[in-house]
Amino acid sequence: MTNEIAYIGLGSNLATPKTQINTAQQAINGLEGVLELAFSSLYRSTPMGPQDQPDYVNAVMAIETDLSAIELLRCLQKIELDHGRVRKDERWGARTLDLDILLYGQQMIDLPDLIVPHYGLAERAFVLYPLHEIAPELKVPGLGGMAELIASCPLDGLVKLPL
Ligand code: ATP
Ligand code: MG
Ligand code: MG
Repeated sequence: MTNEIAYIGLGSNLATPKTQINTAQQAINGLEGVLELAFSSLYRSTPMGPQDQPDYVNAVMAIETDLSAIELLRCLQKIELDHGRVRKDERWGARTLDLDILLYGQQMIDLPDLIVPHYGLAERAFVLYPLHEIAPELKVPGLGGMAELIASCPLDGLVKLPL
């Protein structure tokens, strides 16, 4: 079986977000066929979409995995549910935990349930800056290197949180 390096974006703005991110990291680490390679600092970001919700805490995790991309998505969705995520109709509403697959090796995936690289990657400071922190040399298929991506993405109120 071939292993891939994947990057996961983590976000939370409910129920003690830092705790949600920490326990999500542990849960991902506990998945069969997943090995953690790196974990970024925690960042605080202002919400996209509806503004009447708390700020988010975000981070990015690098893993090595022998799960397929779809298997990984299903495992991450189960962890979201275990963290009390309730799916609502409102887009980008408050949530206890969001786990998005940002990259899966150098693969470009276009399935009904899974688009990789994540479609928001280039525009979202809360994804790009933590990703750059742990993988400055990364090339994003179809989009280019991290340095140029960062250069065209304003911080947008993103703050790196102290340890
Ligand atoms: P956004 O996708 O804009 O970050 P969101 O993360 O809040 O918004 P969700 O409600 O978590 O959106 O997911 C909506 C759907 O996105 C999921 O049902 C999932 O199948 C699909 N999806 C497509 N590509 C991905 C990906 N790369 N990572 C995670 N989910 C994805
Ligand atoms: Mg998301
Ligand atoms: Mg999501």
